Amino acid sequence: MHLHEMSFRRCDGHGCGGFGDSRGSRKHNGVDMACRPGSDVCSPVSGKVTKLGYPYGDDLSFRYVEVSTHGYRYRMFYVEPCVSVGDEVTRDTVIGKAQALGGRYAGITEHVHFEVMNSRDDFIDPTPIILAQQH
Ligand SMILES: [Zn+2]
Repeated sequence: MHLHEMSFRRCDGHGCGGFGDSRGSRKHNGVDMACRPGSDVCSPVSGKVTKLGYPYGDDLSFRYVEVSTHGYRYRMFYVEPCVSVGDEVTRDTVIGKAQALGGRYAGITEHVHFEVMNSRDDFIDPTPIILAQQH
């Protein structure tokens, strides 16, 4: 699935999925897009795979894929990677499969988390990127 084919997570008992929404003392630094676990997830942009990371230090079963281009880093969380660091990808490249979050957050809307950092390591609001792709 492409990001623009998913719907925004909105809110559930664990919080809301928008950029800047509260996460206790912190702010949500990405956007959550509802996605059924096991779905193929496409790269958000054309670029190069620069990292296969771990969102949670206490559970290394969860993964994220980072794709970089033009100084920006695009990260898709809760995706089991099927690509390798250094791979060139396009928006039609499947980068992995969506992982199930319900075992960690009971009742949560299953989703992928999308976040974008600029060259100064600031998180930027990815909402306009998704909306632009919906047209
Ligand atoms: Zn999120």
